Amino acid sequence: MYGSDSDGLHAARAELVSYSARLLDDGLAVGSAGNMSVRSGDLVAITPSGISYAEMRPEDVCLVTMDGTETRAGNRETPSTETPMHLAIYAATTAGAVVHTHSSEVIALSAAREELPAIHYAITGLGGPVRVAPYVRFGSDGLAAAAVEALDGRSAVILRNHGAVTYGHDLAQAYDRALLLEWLARTYRLALSYGEPSILSAAELDEVTAESRRRRYGERRSDHQQRRPP
Ligand SMILES: [Zn+2]
Repeated sequence: MYGSDSDGLHAARAELVSYSARLLDDGLAVGSAGNMSVRSGDLVAITPSGISYAEMRPEDVCLVTMDGTETRAGNRETPSTETPMHLAIYAATTAGAVVHTHSSEVIALSAAREELPAIHYAITGLGGPVRVAPYVRFGSDGLAAAAVEALDGRSAVILRNHGAVTYGHDLAQAYDRALLLEWLARTYRLALSYGEPSILSAAELDEVTAESRRRRYGERRSDHQQRRPP
């Protein structure tokens, strides 16, 4: 989570610029496509529309309230066209940051499948098999609603013939999930090239989630014990 003070907003804007530059390097978008945002208290800092990532500066990052009103008249940029989708996700989830990509593996999958199945247990990091939301025009309230519905119980959604959205408690986590999603889609496509792949069952995924929880709990306990004075 990001602080709502001016330091928190400044850090959020700088972080958005550095992660936006990574989108192209990591192959998650081309040109000025894709967008990302972080929530800072009652404000959302969101990347501007139609500006190249190479030219984007922290002061170009737009600020909007949760009802979509733009603040800071001094900023000459227009908030991302997908601002309604970002705001709908903040309203419906515990997200602290949202990343929207136009990455090729998930777009290819979206044109041919209803979901990304559990080809690898790491998909539990996204809440389970990732749904493909129906196609709705970019920038529309309908797309925002479709994305939120398909996100139920998940931190990732694939948008048919469009891209993907992930969220996390901060931008680093949301971005890592976007990379994980793209890797899972690529791995699934590779598996399909061998024939019909085996897919993990819901029970197997539940077992992974339980074991991950148990190990995290164990780590916290041992941290605590190590910190205790001898
Ligand atoms: Zn898009």
